[in-house]
Amino acid sequence: MGAIGGGEELKKLEKEQKAQMAGAREERILVVVRLRPLSDKEIIADEVADWECINDSTILYRNTLREGSTFPSAYTFDRVFRGDALTKQVYEEGAKEVALSVVSGINSSIFAYGQTSSGKTYTMTGITEYTVADIFDYINRHEERAFVLKFSAIEIYNEAIRDLLNSENTQLRLRDDPEVNTNIYLTFSSSSMLDLTSSFHQRGTTVEKVTEEVLRDWNHLKELLAICEAQRKIGETSLNERSSRSHQIIRLTIESSAREFLGRENSTSLAASVNFIDLAGSERASQALSTGARLKEGCHINRSLLTLSTVVRKLSKGRQGHINYRDSKLTRILQPCLGGNARTAIICTLSPAR
Ligand code: ADP
Ligand code: MG
Repeated sequence: MGAIGGGEELKKLEKEQKAQMAGAREERILVVVRLRPLSDKEIIADEVADWECINDSTILYRNTLREGSTFPSAYTFDRVFRGDALTKQVYEEGAKEVALSVVSGINSSIFAYGQTSSGKTYTMTGITEYTVADIFDYINRHEERAFVLKFSAIEIYNEAIRDLLNSENTQLRLRDDPEVNTNIYLTFSSSSMLDLTSSFHQRGTTVEKVTEEVLRDWNHLKELLAICEAQRKIGETSLNERSSRSHQIIRLTIESSAREFLGRENSTSLAASVNFIDLAGSERASQALSTGARLKEGCHINRSLLTLSTVVRKLSKGRQGHINYRDSKLTRILQPCLGGNARTAIICTLSPAR
């Protein structure tokens, strides 16, 4: 290898890396990993921590049994959090920017993805609360606008949708709004408001008859979250393991308009939603893939989780060609809040155990 050739190669590599970095900045899907500490159960079972964060973006798998294996042992993400990181930090550095884009009229989705008992619910509950606290704070600091904050919560189990704020337990249906073009996305900044008429509210597919509560204050939020948790538990006792197979979506919708123009026909208003999605255990997807044929009969394939993974993979490769949002309930509901100008963050939760 000549010195000149080597130098040129290096330049080429640097150029490629720069191009990759530029691409990464534009990418709309932020992926972070959160390790949790070993649980008491794992400690009693003599498990050791095999996964370790070695810096802010790399997680390492050290399994001495696999020495000499050609498998990669270091994995890089936008951000990784050690087992002792607080949820507040995960929120600040891994979700806040995406979640709060909702106040400027941009839809967003935050997912928790991982195996059962890896910390999805633990993480998502904290993220939801920190976001709402920041939204309340934002509302207080912007008295020139009138805000309405709406809260709804659903569970998707086996492609059936249940309202977590309604104990009647009837199955909810999806409705497509033919008048709305869901491919139209508008971006806003607080300084340059665009006029949004009601037909533009990012509707598309709506969940029929879902309960929407106008969020009053912090206590009201805690009350609603407790109702959701209780509703989820009721489902669990009637069906074994239900919670690890179901997805929970909490949606906050913010509508705001300038007080100055309130009540006038041409008043400017903004509306956007942020979704907090506590996904079904990821082990369900791999199970379904490995024994697909048999499970199809048992109806336990998690269609929503599998479709989501295809949709996310396509979105992260750049938005070309057909994206199969319509293949599952979860992706149909989230379509306006995924891709396009919407912002997405995925928090992968992980036990450090082998
Ligand atoms: P999942 O929703 O993925 O099934 P959970 O959020 O219910 O998992 O977490 C399983 C258990 O681990 C719970 O008891 C939870 O309190 C605990 N846990 C999860 N993540 C953490 C963490 N980062 N720090 C401390 N405890 C955690
Ligand atoms: Mg959970």
